[in-house]
Amino acid sequence: MGRFITLYMRQDSYKQRGLRNKLVKKLRLKGIKDEAVLSAVNKVPRHVFFDDALLPHAYEDKAFPIGEGQTISQPYTVAFQTEKLEIKKGDKVLEIGTGSGYQAAILLELGATVYTVEFNRNLFEKTKSFLPQLGYNPFFVYGDGSKGLAAKAPFDKIIVTAGAPVIPSALTDQLSDHGILIIPVGNRDTQKMVKITKKNTKLIKEEFDQFAFVPLLGEDGWEM
Ligand code: SAH
Repeated sequence: MGRFITLYMRQDSYKQRGLRNKLVKKLRLKGIKDEAVLSAVNKVPRHVFFDDALLPHAYEDKAFPIGEGQTISQPYTVAFQTEKLEIKKGDKVLEIGTGSGYQAAILLELGATVYTVEFNRNLFEKTKSFLPQLGYNPFFVYGDGSKGLAAKAPFDKIIVTAGAPVIPSALTDQLSDHGILIIPVGNRDTQKMVKITKKNTKLIKEEFDQFAFVPLLGEDGWEM
């Protein structure tokens, strides 16, 4: 029975595709312009990341719980951060906060090579076994991503999908020249989206709107 439900949920039906199309239209109206990003949102079946009970909400432009007190980010937020990263095919991208794996799937659709770090052991295990079943294969890393991933640096792009108290210097250190870091920075409840571009070792900072992420934990994050 459980098995049947799983298989059923994995189907990408006409209805789900229609809802996804509507979501893309909504993102366009909200200001997302990058066609490659919009087309990635149109491809990734967000409903398969949802538990049965929340399934009807999969294509609403909202964040939802994914267990362990964590969330799958709002589609607008995913699209906003991804657009700011200006992903090119073959970019080496570091994601801090794997969560459900939805954001990683979007980055992979754009042709990036993705390293994704998760600090919650259960979520790490769950997503590591789930995401490849959809054909998405990032490198999964368990650990504290507030220090980046020195062993695999430098990265063309770094995306942090949890709210940080400060910009961890390890992350700007691990950016390649002309690299881009996108990170929400603020207090535990709301954060300002910050984009850092590295140009000949200089760091150029741009600030955007307020967002609400779950806290980035760890050494350069918030206390547990
Ligand atoms: N990108 C995810 C959303 C993640 S929610 C998605 O698309 O679904 C934020 C995630 O960051 C949570 O799973 C949380 O466990 C994780 N996290 C928090 N602090 C972290 C840290 N220091 N290193 C790695 N992951 C962290």
